[in-house]
Amino acid sequence: MKWWPTLNCPFCNGILPNTEVRRGKPLLCPSCSAQLQASNRQLDLVNVIALVVATLLSYSLGIRGYWLVLAVVLLWFPVLVGCSFVFYRLVRPRFERYED
Ligand SMILES: [Zn+2]
Repeated sequence: MKWWPTLNCPFCNGILPNTEVRRGKPLLCPSCSAQLQASNRQLDLVNVIALVVATLLSYSLGIRGYWLVLAVVLLWFPVLVGCSFVFYRLVRPRFERYED
């Protein structure tokens, strides 16, 4: 994906492939072969933000009760993509050594 900022390896400062970062999938540094993962704390934070935004958005559309839950579930992913975009523009993604 094109919208990722340039990422640097925390160990050798080499440039990492401009690729999508997924939880549970290591990213291999092309310079030093370190296995990296995006900071889980940052991913959790984006997930929570997306959930709050999806809830507020559904609520402001007048959706209530059971439909609110359904709307949040449906909206959560597109909102998460949007939030990740904004979040990783404002906050540089942090990487740490990959753990199983
Ligand atoms: Zn490296």
